[in-house]
Parts: sequence; structure tokens; C-alpha cells
Amino acid sequence: MAFLTAREADLVIYHASELATPVGPAPLTGHRLGQLKVIRDGAVAIKDGLIVAVGRTREIRRFFEAQDELDVSGMTVVPGFVDPHTHLVFGPEGFRPEELEMKIRGLTYMEILARGGGIMRTVRATRATTEEGLARECLRRLDLMLLHGTTTVEAKSGYGLTVEDELKCLRALRKADEKHPVDVVPTFLGAHAVPPEYEGRPDDYVELVISEMLPKVAEGKLASFCDVFCEKGVFSREHAKAILTTGLKCGLKPKLHADEFSDTGGASLAAELKAASADHLLCSSEGGLRAMAKAGVAGVLLPASPLTTMLGRFADARRMIELGVPAALGTDFNPNCPVENLQAVMALACYCMKMTQAEALSAATLNAAYAIGLSDRVGSIEVGKKADLVVLNVPGHEHLGYRLGSNLVVHVVKSGQLVVEDGKLSYRGLGSSPGGSCQTVCVPGRGRPW
Ligand SMILES: [Zn+2]
Repeated sequence: MAFLTAREADLVIYHASELATPVGPAPLTGHRLGQLKVIRDGAVAIKDGLIVAVGRTREIRRFFEAQDELDVSGMTVVPGFVDPHTHLVFGPEGFRPEELEMKIRGLTYMEILARGGGIMRTVRATRATTEEGLARECLRRLDLMLLHGTTTVEAKSGYGLTVEDELKCLRALRKADEKHPVDVVPTFLGAHAVPPEYEGRPDDYVELVISEMLPKVAEGKLASFCDVFCEKGVFSREHAKAILTTGLKCGLKPKLHADEFSDTGGASLAAELKAASADHLLCSSEGGLRAMAKAGVAGVLLPASPLTTMLGRFADARRMIELGVPAALGTDFNPNCPVENLQAVMALACYCMKMTQAEALSAATLNAAYAIGLSDRVGSIEVGKKADLVVLNVPGHEHLGYRLGSNLVVHVVKSGQLVVEDGKLSYRGLGSSPGGSCQTVCVPGRGRPW
């Protein structure tokens, strides 16, 4: 058992049939990705929002006086899930359910776009929504993510595509972050698509991103990362390089949508710029992946995306792991890939990309945290880290990834506060700022008291 000096705890969670977690230092590569620490009859002690001890129930309960206790007999405790790639912010009318039938009938993305659908429909819906309206919509989506066990989310702008609308989206994300227990890490993705006003003039739009958008994003401290959709027919490798290097000068770490539909050299560019991550990677060259491994660039895999795009193939996760790329998993939540549930993504990783359940869990927690620069604070159940925990209604972690489509989450603890209780949201106006009140009343020795 490992613990800090504190003998008092705010909350002790005990009698977990299994406590399963990846163990740092991050990133986990090669065989380390599948090596979880598993404690039977596990317990964890929490003080001031942080994990102060992890071990067997007998030891933890002997050493710690807890104000609140939570008996999780028969259940499994894992780290809060980290979703390192979402397009969280778009107008409520921006979902595009009618396009599924078009996709089923075989229409390509370009044909759907030509009928006024696709990304531009979502852009119109986002431009038509106020900052308040966008923030409200983000809060709803964050609730759904939290109910499925996600406690930290990266969120990109990219459906505004004008200076004002991109800033509006990032401000909405900041508002949502302040009001919601889930931590939101903002990414500026002004170069998500070339907007209709710049049709046929991508260079001019890139110039707008570089000379107007990026300085304003930096000035308002509105984003931690800068991302580019680097793809044939959208933004070239040169565009991406110009935007990301300007972003770096503005203090924004690079990320990249890379090699999704064709190999545009995105993986090697991410390595060259020492990006935090390169995402998608379906068509990356072996050399590009090797360069990423060498530079420690996380490879964020998004299997729900090719599934919902009906591509019929997936990124080669096994090869990436073999080459030493730090593999992470994300939802790619967006109107074309309406998936809030990271548990479903872990299952897709297992069934479609042949990752093991243990690898999928590490990739959706510690390595996902690494992909957004937070692996020293979240992503594993280790002393000193934020107390972000998920309690699953199953006896062992191998149910995650194996069970497809079910929500196994019973409780979620975020920064030491019980925010999902018996499958229901239990935070009350609690933001991610310190403070807030957990309404839990627990009586030691009487099992689950509520
Ligand atoms: Zn994306």
C-alpha cells in the first residue's frame, strides 16, 4: 500500500472486488500498455480532492479515519475516463441524423455536402446559436459523458469558421468548464474546414487563421492546443505546418487530424513539431508512425469515426503498439460520429482493432491524459493524483471492452466529489472550480448508505 502522511480522509471507497488502474509514468508503450495494477478487495482514500492512499481494504480502513465511506462490494473501481478528442461545441440543430440514411444508401461525404449537408450544415447551426446557447448545449453533452464515466474531456472549436464565431465557441467551452464538474480542455481548430466564404481560396483562409484568429485566441487564453484538419482537399501539410508553428509561438501546443482518408504525411509532421498527439492515423506510413514513437507523440485512435463514416476499416492499432507509439482512445464526438460513450469506444477498440481490454482501459485513461498533457494529474489511481474514479457494476475490469453498448457505470467521483450516484447525476451546481458540496451522507459499516 502506498499513502501520503494524512491519516484523515474525506472519503474512503472500499471492498471493490477489483481496483484496476494503469500505472505511470506515462506514456505507456508496447507491452506496458496492457499491464494494469489490479488490487482485489481494493480501497482508495481521498483527501482534498486528491488520492492519498491506494491498497487493500483491510490496510486502508486500518490507517484512515474517513468522514464518508462508500462500500462498493462486488464492483470494480477504475480511473475516470479521459476523452482526448471531441468536437463538443456546436449548435443544438447541428446534429445530422437524416444523413445516416443517405450514408446507408451509399452517398459519399462529398455528395452529402453538395446537397447542403455535412459539416457546413453544422457550421450554419453553430453560427446561429449564441454563446449562452452553445454553453448550455455543451453542459447537456457533458452530463451524458459524465454519466458514462468520462471525467476529463478535450473539446475543439471548428464549427464557427469566422473570427467571431470561433472565439464564441471557445468562450462557450470555458463557460461550460466553469459550470460543470467534468474538466474541459479547449483546443482551437479554426482550420477544421474551408468555409463557403473562402471556397477555392484555402490559402486566404489559412492566412485569416494565422494572422487574426490565433492571436485573439492566445490573447483571451481561450485554448491549450491548436489543431488542424490535415487532409487531401482540405488543408495541406504545408498549411498545417504554418498554422501549428504560429500556434506554438502563441503558446498553443500542436495536435493534428492526420492521415484519416489518405497519407498526407501528417504523422511525420506531428513528430517533427513534437505535437501532443496525432489523431485518426488510418493511412499513416510506417515511417510516420516510427517517427511518432521516437518523438513520444500520442496516437489517438478513434474507432467510432470510421465506423460511423462506414469506411469498413480501422487504424492498425496492433502495429502502432508494436512500434512503440503511445496509443490513446477517444470518441471523436461530433455530428458525424455522435458517440458520447467511451465505454463503447473501448469495446470497438477490442472488437475492431484487436486491442485487449487492459490495453483499451490504459488507452482511454492514462495515455489519453498524456495526449492532452495531463498525465501527471489524471488518468490513473495513484497517490497524489486527482481523485477521479469510476465505479462499475461488474466484478472485474475485463468486462470493459467486452460489454458492447451497455453503461456499466454506477458511481463517478470527480475531484473527490460524488457526482454520479447510483447511475444518476448527483452534483448540484458544482463546477470544476474548488469547493462545491457533495451531499453524500454515509454511515460507516452499513454498506451503501443511500
Ligand atoms: Zn476530429
